[in-house]
Amino acid sequence: MKRYYQPEVETASYEEIRQIQNEKIVKQVRYVYENVPYYRNLMEKKGVTPDDIKSVDDIKKLPFLSKDDLREAYPYGLLGTDLKNCVRIQSTSGTTGKRVVAFYTQKDIDMWEECCARAIVAAGGTEEDVVQVCYGYGLFTGGPGLNGGSHKVGCLTLPMSSGNTDRQIQFMMDLQSTILCCTPSYAAYIGESLAEQGYKPEDNKLKAGIFGAEPWTEEMRQEIEKSLGIKAYDIYGLTETSGPGVAFECEEQTGMHINEDHFYAEVIDPKTGEVLPDGEKGELVFTSLDKEGFPLLRYRTKDICILSRKKCSCGRTHVKMTKPLGRSDDMMIIRGVNVFPSQIEAVLLKEGYPPNYQIVVDRVNNSDTFDIYVECTPAMFSDIIADMQAKEKKLNLAMRSMLGIGPKIHLVAPKTIARSEGKAVRVIDKRKLH
Ligand code: ADP
Ligand code: ZN
Repeated sequence: MKRYYQPEVETASYEEIRQIQNEKIVKQVRYVYENVPYYRNLMEKKGVTPDDIKSVDDIKKLPFLSKDDLREAYPYGLLGTDLKNCVRIQSTSGTTGKRVVAFYTQKDIDMWEECCARAIVAAGGTEEDVVQVCYGYGLFTGGPGLNGGSHKVGCLTLPMSSGNTDRQIQFMMDLQSTILCCTPSYAAYIGESLAEQGYKPEDNKLKAGIFGAEPWTEEMRQEIEKSLGIKAYDIYGLTETSGPGVAFECEEQTGMHINEDHFYAEVIDPKTGEVLPDGEKGELVFTSLDKEGFPLLRYRTKDICILSRKKCSCGRTHVKMTKPLGRSDDMMIIRGVNVFPSQIEAVLLKEGYPPNYQIVVDRVNNSDTFDIYVECTPAMFSDIIADMQAKEKKLNLAMRSMLGIGPKIHLVAPKTIARSEGKAVRVIDKRKLH
């Protein structure tokens, strides 16, 4: 069985990858300088010229770009080539505010789809497979990215898009899908729906799932693997760099290989902007090495992670990133304590609750309120108030020991928290509206 989609690059030596990167960055910086006045301006302000960039080691001399720059330059300010050379736009999900738009030439799309193809092959995909893509199609990158990658591998592709879960299940069963692609929260929902319809995990033909676009915990992975009877792989990406497939997991399932021949990754201290050595936790920054339509240099993702160059048993040599340990902008500060939704999810699943919850933060009389609504499974749910209160108390203590502060827990009846078909909305922070 084919283990890699592009073995020559995916298993190239560190030196070979460096050489590819060095050649590309010199060209790319000049390209951006000549074609993107917005970025040339930033370079001039910093006193850097393309001549200063001789290898990827010099990337640290370049100015950063942030989502604010993208919003300021919206829509065409960061375009790298004439619109007539572009064939597509995609747009972010707008998780943290106004959407931004990215432009693609045909070459950009081919590169992106190849990255997704690498992810599918890493999850065991071959031309024998039936790939059910239930990420949203349209402006969101999830559907188009995995769809293109699946075509490149030669899989039979089911362009389902998200939603209509009964139809998803019908096609999954009738067409014997073997690989499922969607957000992890939707995968959990599909698993739950299959069980409700009386299917056991072994009744479906799925062997793997490729899940990403939102944070998910190891506990969530185990839950999904069990309910669908599959191996669940993580995939990471963002519209600004292309979409899913910037990094993907291999069979080792210990972090995602970054497609380093296309994206140069740095981890920085989010406060000072200083580049941190591998192994340290910080904000991920990407430089696209060969994009034409939307060629961002040193883009700050706000995703917090750790890079590792530890040898991987899969034979791939590209650097690995941990699962994003939260977005620096989805970290909540509640009563002065840093809280990430992923910590809450980990506690819930460890305590045996299903991954259906919502966090509500508000400010009343100048003091933060912190409530978590948690769904019970039918087996857990009880009419006896004392039983439910004891469960709430236990969960409150488990949260307190993980987070350092205790939320008010509300156990709610099965099926009362809305399911997500795309990116789940886990946090409602009403303080921002004040
Ligand atoms: P938005 O920033 O509006 O959500 P995108 O749809 O482009 O825009 O989503 C990209 C973001 O989604 C990433 O920056 C990251 O925060 C999140 N993301 C993508 N893949 C993963 C993943 N596998 N795990 C955790 N978060 C992810
Ligand atoms: Zn690997």
